[in-house]
Amino acid sequence: MSLRASSNAVDCLVIGAGHNGLVCAAVLARAGRSVLVLEAGQTIGGASVTREFAPGFRVSAGAHLLHSMPATLRHELRLEQHGLIAAATRMPTTALLEHAPPLAVEAWACGVESEARAAFDARMRRVARALAPIIERRPPRIGSGGMRDVLEWLRSALRLRLLGRRDLRELLRVGGMNVYDLLEEQFESVALQGALALDAVLGSNFGPRSPGTVFTLLYRMAGQELALAEGTELPRGGMGAVCAALAAAATAAGAAVRTGAPVARIVIDADRASGVELADGERIAARTVISSADPKTTLLRLVGPRHLDAGFVRRVDRLRGRGLAAKLHLALDRAPAFTGLEPGRLGSRLLIAPSMAYVERAFDHSKYGEFAPEPVMEITVPSAVDPTLAPQGRHVLSAVVQYAPYELKGGWSDGRAGAIERLLGMLERHAPGLRDSVVGAELLAPPDIEREFRIDGGHWHHAELAFDQFHLLRPVPGASGHRLDIPGLYLCGAGCHPGGGVIGLAGRNAARCLLEHGE
Ligand SMILES: Cc1cc2nc3c(=O)[nH]c(=O)nc-3n(C[C@H](O)[C@H](O)[C@H](O)COP(=O)(O)OP(=O)(O)OC[C@H]3O[C@@H](n4cnc5c(N)ncnc54)[C@H](O)[C@@H]3O)c2cc1C
Repeated sequence: MSLRASSNAVDCLVIGAGHNGLVCAAVLARAGRSVLVLEAGQTIGGASVTREFAPGFRVSAGAHLLHSMPATLRHELRLEQHGLIAAATRMPTTALLEHAPPLAVEAWACGVESEARAAFDARMRRVARALAPIIERRPPRIGSGGMRDVLEWLRSALRLRLLGRRDLRELLRVGGMNVYDLLEEQFESVALQGALALDAVLGSNFGPRSPGTVFTLLYRMAGQELALAEGTELPRGGMGAVCAALAAAATAAGAAVRTGAPVARIVIDADRASGVELADGERIAARTVISSADPKTTLLRLVGPRHLDAGFVRRVDRLRGRGLAAKLHLALDRAPAFTGLEPGRLGSRLLIAPSMAYVERAFDHSKYGEFAPEPVMEITVPSAVDPTLAPQGRHVLSAVVQYAPYELKGGWSDGRAGAIERLLGMLERHAPGLRDSVVGAELLAPPDIEREFRIDGGHWHHAELAFDQFHLLRPVPGASGHRLDIPGLYLCGAGCHPGGGVIGLAGRNAARCLLEHGE
C-alpha cells in the first residue's frame, strides 16, 4: 500500500460525518480552526441519514425522530438558516391497542388517576430539568484539583439541592428503581404504563424490570427538556436534513467535508496523535484528531492496543454495546388505516407496547437469542406530514423494533424473512389491509446497522447507556472527558457522555474541550 502525504495539514481532523462529528467540526471552524471531516461512507449523516429503500421511497434509515437536540445548539449553529425545516413539531404519542381504541398518551387522564398523572408528570419534569445541565455539560474530573472541575461538581450538587427536600428524596428513592415498579405504583392503566415504559427502554438492552430504567427514562426526559420548544419533531426530508444543515453550518464556517474517505488508522508519532492514514494509504497531518466513531473502533482499531495501557484496552474491550433495536421500513401504495385512529393522528408517534408485561416478555426472548414473537414498536408514517419522502398518494412507514438480538439463533440470513413476516402480521392486526399495500420492505437488524453505519455492535448509543457506562464512566474510566491520554486525540461520538440520540452534545462538548485546552 502506498503512503501518500497530503500537502495541507489541518488544525483539526474529525473522523466521521455523523451528526456529532459535524457539530464538532462546525463549532471548531466557527472558532477559527482549520477543519477537515473524513467520512468513510459515500454520504454524510451516519445513523442520522435519509436514503432511498425502494424506488421513489425515502426513509430516515437510522434515527427517525428528533427530540433531544438542545435549542441552544440549534440556535448557535443557526440550523434553521442552514436549511433545517420541520415537517411536524410537538408530535403527540398514540398507543395502539388491539382490543380498545388508541390512547392519546400525553392527554390521558382518567377519573381518580388524573391527579396522579398530573403530579407524576410535574415531578418527573422537575427532576429531569435538574438533571438536564448534567446531561448538557461534560463530566468534571475527579480529584484533578482544577478550579473548573471543582466548580462543576459544586454546580451539579447545587442543582440537585435546589430540587427541594421532597423532590430530592423522591429522586433518591426512584433513581435506581426499575420503571416497572415505579409505573405500577403510580398508575392503574396498563396501556399507559406500557407506553411510558417504552421510553425507558427504547434503544437499550433493557426490559421494564431491568435495574436502572427509571434513570434511562429520566435521561430521555432531560434531553427533551433541553429541546423543549419544538417537542418531538420530524424534519422535512427526514433525519438526513439535520446533518445536511449541520454540514452547511460547518462548511459555511470554513470546514471541509470529504466522503468516501475511510480512516484506517490514527497516526501516533512520539506518543502524540499527528494525523490519520486512509484505507488507500493517503496520510493527512493534523494538530488534533477527533473521532466520532464508536469507542471500540477508535481505540482498538484506529489507535491500536500497542499505544494504550493494557488495563485500559481491557476496559474498552469489555464495553457493552450489542444493539437490540432493529429498524423496519415499508413502502406502501396507500395510507395505512390503523383501527380507530383519527386520520389527523397518522402523523403522530404510534406505539405498540400495550402493557409493561408485554414489553418485558418481548425482552425475555432476546436473552435466548430469539426475535420477540410479539415485538414492541415505535412507528412513524413520516409521509403523512412530509410529501418529499414518497410518490404522491403513497406512504412510508418507519418503525424501531424491539427486541432483535445481534446474534439471532439461526442467524439473520435465515431469520430475516420470518421476522418481517411476524412484523407484518402484527401491523395487520392494528391496520387491516396494510399487508396488501406493501410494495417494498426492509428490516435492518443490529448486524446490518453495524455494517451500514459502521457502529461496532450496531448499538443506538454506540455503547450501552447504563449506570456503569454513564457520565464519568463513559465510555470507560480514563476517557470520560473527550480528551484522551494520548495528546492531540479526542472522542466526540455517542460513546461519550451523554450518549446517543441525535443530540449533538458530545460533538459540541468535545470541541469546547479542545478549545479550552488551546489546541
Ligand atoms: C435503529 C436506531 C434507531 C434510532 N432512532 C433514534 C431516534 O429516533 N431519535 C434519536 O434521537 N436517536 C435515535 N437513534 C440514535 C442515533 O441515531 C445515534 O445515537 C446517533 O446518530 C449517533 O450519532 P454520532 O454522530 O455520534 O455517530 P454516528 O451517527 O454513528 O456517526 C459516526 C460516523 O463515523 C463514520 N465512521 C466510522 N468509522 C469511520 C472511519 N474509520 N473512517 C471514517 N469515518 C468513519 C461512520 O460512517 C458514521 O458516519 C437510533 C439509533 C438506531 C441504531
